Amino acid sequence: MSIGENLSGIRSTLPEGVRLCAVSKFHAVEKISEAYAAGQRIFGESRVQELCSKVAQLPSDIEWHFIGHLQTNKVRQLVPVASMIESVDSVRLLTEINRCAEKIGKVMPVLLEVHVASEESKTGFAPDECRAFLSSGQWRTAMPNIRICGLMAMATNTDCEATVAADFATAEQLFGEFKQQFFAGDAAFSIRSWGMSGDYQIALRHSANIVRIGTAIFGLREY
Ligand SMILES: *Cc1c(COP(=O)(O)O)cnc(C)c1O
Repeated sequence: MSIGENLSGIRSTLPEGVRLCAVSKFHAVEKISEAYAAGQRIFGESRVQELCSKVAQLPSDIEWHFIGHLQTNKVRQLVPVASMIESVDSVRLLTEINRCAEKIGKVMPVLLEVHVASEESKTGFAPDECRAFLSSGQWRTAMPNIRICGLMAMATNTDCEATVAADFATAEQLFGEFKQQFFAGDAAFSIRSWGMSGDYQIALRHSANIVRIGTAIFGLREY
């Protein structure tokens, strides 16, 4: 199947209001162009260098979402070119994003990545850590150049559907709690980014409104 066929197959299963982030990491610019020609405009990348190189070679109306582990020293390069940084997992990173965004007069949309999986290895704020940061209110006063638009999460990497569903349920519950507690009057806080190729159907049942899909669109990655 072609990239265009994969995309239309996936799109036909997404409810109204759910956006598709096509995860193009490790895939060639030609493949991204093919997806672009099929109407895709949101792409996800996990390395700053790779993202910047692709930005320079592809149409400017692409929305680039950063979804990988981000090092503080790469933030300055990323902020001008990213439409959204989905994988923010520390206060230190938020502080640096705010600082770099301020320098170029941008308000940077971000998602807070929450750790809901049972693996130790997964990144993200622990729920309590995220709650404590939001309670502190420091983002309201000290970080005017970031806009917190919602949460990102990854489920445990397992074939056990019940485990994956429980992880997404946790993410959904945290979103509801934070929305009510901290963002009740803030329409921007609306994004629930969870679900990948193998588990996005389950994520949709837990109110995902961005799904991040790579393999099911582009095939296997060659690292
Ligand atoms: C690579 C990646 C994806 C896409 O995974 P697929 O299984 O290829 O769909 C989604 N989200 C994040 C954070 C990723 O790193």
